[in-house]
Amino acid sequence: MKDAAPQTIYLKDYTPFGFAVESVSLTFRLHPTATRVISKIRFTPIPDASDTRFFLHGEQLKLISAKIDGVEINTKMVEGGLEADVPDVPFTWETEVEINPQANTALEGLYMSNGMYCTQCEAEGFRKITFYPDRPDVMSVFDVKIEADGDNTPIMLSNGNGVELSKARATWSDPWPKPAYLFALVAGELIAHRDTFTTLSDKQVQLAIWVRPGDEHKCAFGMAALKKSMKWDEDVYGREYDLDEFNIVAVDDFNMGAMENKGLNIFNSSCVLASPETATDGNFERIEAIIAHEYFHNWTGNRITCRDWFQLCLKEGLTVFRDAQFTADMRSEPVKRIDDVITLRARQFPEDQGPLSHPVRPESFQEINNFYTATVYEKGAEVIGMLKTLVGDEAYSKALDLYFMRHDGQACTIEDWIAVFEESTGRDLNQFKLWYSQSGTPEVAVREAYDGTTFTLHLSQSSAPTPGQSQKAAQVIPVTVGLLNDNGDEILPTQVLELTQEEQSFTFEGHASRPIPSILRGFSAPVTLRQDIDNTRRAFLLAHDTDAFNRWEAGRDLARDSLLGAVLEGTPHNTAYLQGLKAVLSDETLDPAYRALMLGQPSQSELASELHKMGHTPDPAAIHTASEALRRAKAEAFSDLLPGLYADNQVAGTFSPDAGPAGQRSLANAALSLLTRLDQGKTAAQQYASADNMTLQLAGLSALLDAEKGEDALETFYDQWQNDRLVIDKWFSMQVMHAKPAALTKTVRKLCDHPDFEWKNPNRFRAVMGMLAAHHAGFHHESGGAYELLADWLIRLDPVNPQTTARMCAAFQTWKRYDQTRQTMIQGQLERIASQNGLSRDTTEMVTRILEG
Ligand SMILES: [Zn+2]
Repeated sequence: MKDAAPQTIYLKDYTPFGFAVESVSLTFRLHPTATRVISKIRFTPIPDASDTRFFLHGEQLKLISAKIDGVEINTKMVEGGLEADVPDVPFTWETEVEINPQANTALEGLYMSNGMYCTQCEAEGFRKITFYPDRPDVMSVFDVKIEADGDNTPIMLSNGNGVELSKARATWSDPWPKPAYLFALVAGELIAHRDTFTTLSDKQVQLAIWVRPGDEHKCAFGMAALKKSMKWDEDVYGREYDLDEFNIVAVDDFNMGAMENKGLNIFNSSCVLASPETATDGNFERIEAIIAHEYFHNWTGNRITCRDWFQLCLKEGLTVFRDAQFTADMRSEPVKRIDDVITLRARQFPEDQGPLSHPVRPESFQEINNFYTATVYEKGAEVIGMLKTLVGDEAYSKALDLYFMRHDGQACTIEDWIAVFEESTGRDLNQFKLWYSQSGTPEVAVREAYDGTTFTLHLSQSSAPTPGQSQKAAQVIPVTVGLLNDNGDEILPTQVLELTQEEQSFTFEGHASRPIPSILRGFSAPVTLRQDIDNTRRAFLLAHDTDAFNRWEAGRDLARDSLLGAVLEGTPHNTAYLQGLKAVLSDETLDPAYRALMLGQPSQSELASELHKMGHTPDPAAIHTASEALRRAKAEAFSDLLPGLYADNQVAGTFSPDAGPAGQRSLANAALSLLTRLDQGKTAAQQYASADNMTLQLAGLSALLDAEKGEDALETFYDQWQNDRLVIDKWFSMQVMHAKPAALTKTVRKLCDHPDFEWKNPNRFRAVMGMLAAHHAGFHHESGGAYELLADWLIRLDPVNPQTTARMCAAFQTWKRYDQTRQTMIQGQLERIASQNGLSRDTTEMVTRILEG
């Protein structure tokens, strides 16, 4: 079957399926090119159903036979599946189909990855395995039988508990009703790293991380993270694991990070495998967070699932929020918050302020795979955070208890979610619900007034038009505020102001001298804050704010203004910023990880966005020059401090990826990056040569590349790691990231000719093409060469892997920020992609939205 003209699906058209599925039993006879899937499904017609059509989804399936209650029947093939005449009483549906896992390069459904069978069914991949009502609101228990294909498949896994496991056959039974998108199967030559976990009701769970032979030594960290997650979910949310076993499998070819299939999580190997020699501290932290995220889905996603894909944020927003809480508890709360806000601004803000802007709960789509976005995930999590801020911690816990009790085993909506909060708190959350339906990033403007005793904050909110939404209503915005005096003492601890109108004033009485406000502490809402304050005030907050987030934010604002001044007026970099920053860096009472973040500065893309909002046309080359100049200015201003910072934060002894030593390494590496600008790479070369872990080795390489002295190191790095795919991904990325803007396309073309550029592997493709798009000055180089190069590769990848292609199209989403020449060049490339014969539904939708939005 082929993709027909794209069809738009609307939230308002939701209709329940007219049949309940009582049980599903599947038999897989594995074969790389001709796997047989025999399904036996018990259907019961639902009385008074509004839609009685018996339609089963099915794509790329060869139907061998179909029976009802044992009798062969005729089926009618229709767009996207089949229809049949069925009895109006319960019946057993049986089909046998043939599929070709080897030919499945889209990595959706059942496919092969390096000789191993594996599946990815979310969102709509199950329909490529067998005919089924492939929609999340149809839930059933599943029994699965897997029959081996020769000796190459000694391990065969599926959801639930293993019943019978032999070399030739495996039987699995999952007692928990689930939608088909949570189905999983893995078979191949795998080795387990095992452990156990005892739950709060004293039940022992068998845990295993399954990997290819040779990767066994990279599992210990992931296993520890899994056990911590299981314990944390019991302690903080009272959620206990519900099967006898929990399996994780590492797979090399995977479109996403990981997938929460019931009892059998499948992970992109980059998100689970780690050893000190091959993974950086950043990799370790990410792995811990993703393992937690997928595990937490067992309750928020699996036990309580989504009624339809428009409700994706119900499981994702909540689970991202939960994994952020977990990381904050395991590591540092302010550091995690700052990291998350940097990501939100880098990924979600451009999405929400451009042609791809959509609400946290979209109201229509053509291809749901295009809505696994930063808005649904990250802004979705921010919405949960705001709700918790508004109702308070205790009410949040009570509401969650009610949610788990009331909706266990159900497929739910955002309305169900909001209702538990309304009922348990008595609050009317109608206006709050706008966060789910209104797209765009609201702007909150602040004006201050003081009359000798009363201090007033005048707040106003506005939101620019976004595609399909020209008029916006005022939203409920929790604005956290604390007040400081001239000495920097906190005179009013953090309070939550509820901004619910377009304009609103809040007064603070009895202040004999003018207080200094610290606004939007902890980034209490996903908004942009416009505050008309000068650099003296910002420098004061950078030195004194008692809120760690806002202290960092003050430094960030100073850096941004300094950069904008340099770009627009060629002014030298702000000394108040450099002095304030120096004081923070020297303050040894502050967490090294936090100080390392302080040394960062807004990205070039963020500056381009800021300039665009100010009414200027961003010049990527000028932004690049200013950013480099600020780094240089920091290196010079801190020249007496950097050697000490670097030396004092070297970590001795056995490597530990814990927050403490990882924070020290991040500060030492941030210092190294600046030091390199003073010593021409001398320290970096030493670090690279002596490093015994990837965090130090890669930072050494990165600094050497900055100093244009990385050629030899690139060679030795390749020789050392050529047999480790994940490390070679880093080798590719590094070269793209550090290319000079004018040389970027040349560098990338050369890398694409490298024998290791396995472009059909999503990790490898992203390591090169993702970095190409992220290289602001190079991607937007005036030649337009990078636009053309990326478009060439997207056109090549689309027939192979539409999902990854469509996602990478987002590289062009900011095109209207730039000058007419660049716009014309990008438009030309987008139109060239759009004009390809047989372009996938995924990519067609993305390109059309970017062009038209
Ligand atoms: Zn998730």
